[in-house]
Amino acid sequence: MTIGVLALQGAFRAHILALRSLGYDAVEVRTPAQLAEVDALVMPGGESTTMSMLLESSELFEPLSARLAEGMPALGTCAGLILLAAEIEDGRPDQRSFGALDISVQRNGYGRQIESFETELHVEGFDSPMPAVFIRAPRVTRTGESVEVLATNDLGEPVIVRSGKVFGTAFHPELSSDTRLHRLFAESVAYWRSK
Ligand code: GLN
Repeated sequence: MTIGVLALQGAFRAHILALRSLGYDAVEVRTPAQLAEVDALVMPGGESTTMSMLLESSELFEPLSARLAEGMPALGTCAGLILLAAEIEDGRPDQRSFGALDISVQRNGYGRQIESFETELHVEGFDSPMPAVFIRAPRVTRTGESVEVLATNDLGEPVIVRSGKVFGTAFHPELSSDTRLHRLFAESVAYWRSK
């Protein structure tokens, strides 16, 4: 089983290292041919407007959209969550997203004063809190019926969501040493593959 990490821009290396530290085969994805070789895809944090443009110029947008529609498992973190969302508030007018998670997200939704912060989250199924680094994070402002919320922030807003085989986080799980979310994702991918 091979897990791809979208490597057009942003914090992709830390995802590769986290997955490899758990013993998984993780590879960078920049081309449609590389996408075709992976069983699942991590979409990292970075800048969603830039990633949207690069997805189009690399001719990855359409094949990736098709893989997601076929049920390829995915994990989107921060900008990656924005790319997976159905609706983007405060996006660029030409910014595109895949609609693989029926959520609305507000870009940079935590405001200027608290652009970046670190906190601890209680995550469904984890026996101790998970450190979470938020960097100009998106705020999840709506979740549809298909969406399960695995963790919320102090305000009760979703920060880890899942819909079918697609997971999303508003923060950067790859920037702390806690790899439990990567493990949960990778184990889920392995389980779905075995079925
Ligand atoms: N604010 C960024 C965006 O709109 C996301 C920030 C991040 O990924 N850390 O894409």
